[in-house]
Amino acid sequence: MVQVTLAIFVVYAGFASDLWGKTCQLQITGNDSMQYDKKKLTVDTSCQKVTLTLIHGGQLPMAAMGHNWVLTKTADKAAVVAAGVTAGAQKGYLKKDDPRIIAATDMLGGKGKTSITFATSKLKTSGKYTFFCTFPGHAALMSGDFLFVTASSTKTKDKSP
Ligand code: ZN
Repeated sequence: MVQVTLAIFVVYAGFASDLWGKTCQLQITGNDSMQYDKKKLTVDTSCQKVTLTLIHGGQLPMAAMGHNWVLTKTADKAAVVAAGVTAGAQKGYLKKDDPRIIAATDMLGGKGKTSITFATSKLKTSGKYTFFCTFPGHAALMSGDFLFVTASSTKTKDKSP
């Protein structure tokens, strides 16, 4: 009986591992000069999930220099920024449950750090995506391209040591 249970567990674990897929890591930092340290983020299509870590490397409080990281289709950026301003500071300058938002972190003040994990199933390789900060006035400078691409190099790696 024990062996049967173990066999089932192994099959289940293998199946679950396929379902979970690969989680890829991204990191971006904002500063007190209203800038991200990256203008472009790239995720490979082999990543089924992405964990993005946002760091506020500055000193200023959230009320003066808040930063978040929001991902939408490029075409939705302006509307999501406008809806965020309307939502106001208490909502973290983000309209709750906005279907145009693919992923969004909390709003941070200086020295803050936060992470989110989201599935890439909503992304298309042909899609145009942009990330930005929805704090009022920030999205013009704090914005960049988000690319969902298949690695161009498909060469097989030599697995011998
Ligand atoms: Zn900001």
